[in-house]
Amino acid sequence: MKTAPREVEGKPLSVDEALARILERIHPLPDEERPILDALGAVLAEDVRAANDVPPFANSAMDGYAVRASDVAGASPQREVRLPVRLDIAAGDAAERPLEAGAAARIMTGAPLPRGADTVVRFEDTDRGEAIVGIRVAVPRGENVRRAGEDLRAGEVVLTRGAILRAAEIGVLATAGRPAARVVRRPRAAVLSTGDELVEVGETPGPGKIRDANRYTLASAVRAAGAEPVVIGIARDTPEALRAALERGALEDAIVTSGGVSVGDRDWMKTVLREIGAMDFWTIAMRPGKPVAFGEIRGKPIFGLPGNPVSALLTFELFARPALRKMAGQSRLQRPRTRARLTEDVAKPPHLRFFARAVHDAASGTVRTTGPQGSGILRSMSLANSLIDLPVGPELVRAGSEVDVVLTDLPEDR
Ligand code: AMP
Ligand code: MG
Repeated sequence: MKTAPREVEGKPLSVDEALARILERIHPLPDEERPILDALGAVLAEDVRAANDVPPFANSAMDGYAVRASDVAGASPQREVRLPVRLDIAAGDAAERPLEAGAAARIMTGAPLPRGADTVVRFEDTDRGEAIVGIRVAVPRGENVRRAGEDLRAGEVVLTRGAILRAAEIGVLATAGRPAARVVRRPRAAVLSTGDELVEVGETPGPGKIRDANRYTLASAVRAAGAEPVVIGIARDTPEALRAALERGALEDAIVTSGGVSVGDRDWMKTVLREIGAMDFWTIAMRPGKPVAFGEIRGKPIFGLPGNPVSALLTFELFARPALRKMAGQSRLQRPRTRARLTEDVAKPPHLRFFARAVHDAASGTVRTTGPQGSGILRSMSLANSLIDLPVGPELVRAGSEVDVVLTDLPEDR
């Protein structure tokens, strides 16, 4: 948050312009040491080297018998090679005694290969003898042996800065001897609802009241974006209440509010934010969604999203999610997109970019809307796995048209 926000009130902004202005003022958070069990989804802030070879010693990949390949070179089902069994080695044993030539060691998966042995014959290729074993196949040297360092070499860089830690990377950190790693700090985002009409979910709304939905959708969207929600609750429609809630929110890394940014009599957000922060109030040429406010309080970015539940979640998706991901050090800020064939006519306001909540079917390459698209109809969002992104311009997009689709439902990856 380096440059002061500019006032652009009144002039409609495009979605892309608004996002660019937001992202130019957002910077990745500093890094921190985090226990690896709590690092899923984080962005690595260091190169990680293996402390030792993994595996640290040559060991058996199978339950069977460790031998010298040269001792069983002539073996076949018709002509077993019979070897005395001299050792019995389980996973966790130290295997200090060497294996003499012309003998076998019973060995379990993960057990260290005794000195002298170079190959493991699976139980299934033997008669499983205890004192003497009959070997029925000739196996190439090194078969069923995991070499020391075949996974990771001591000192080798096994994960690089910028890597996103998934389950597999967390496992690599563990096996490389790292109980904690340096990662970009996970942003904490305060979530604040505004409105005299709101009651808690557990309450039965009285006359004129509704349950607070946005707190839950936005807190969940914050978490899904890889950040940590800090729920502030409901601020009533007075300057004092709003000021107190926003001051509390500014203790976190970012603030996400809903409602109160419009031109209603009790929309106090503008007044209060002018007093304690700096803010742009934007009319964005999109539906659903406008108006959206963006600015800062004490250097912390604040996203003032509209109150309508669909608009709130959609503007979060388009503006706050990429920003939180940038703060978390992610390099892919946007959802994947595709093109698909529309299976119905879609009407839209010609002067606005329109995001229809949609069901995309990858198999047929088609997409349809989820039905009624009003900005209060949250079900249009819960039925959707994607958004149809229709540009400013046309008023009617015909069935059969190829359209842009934002895939909002794919698992996060790199
Ligand atoms: P506002 O922008 O504050 O005028 O709110 C616009 C619409 O969204 C109004 O119908 C509000 O009742 C509704 N709304 C605002 N906040 C919430 C919320 N947290 N949960 C559900 N609906 C809300
Ligand atoms: Mg309101």
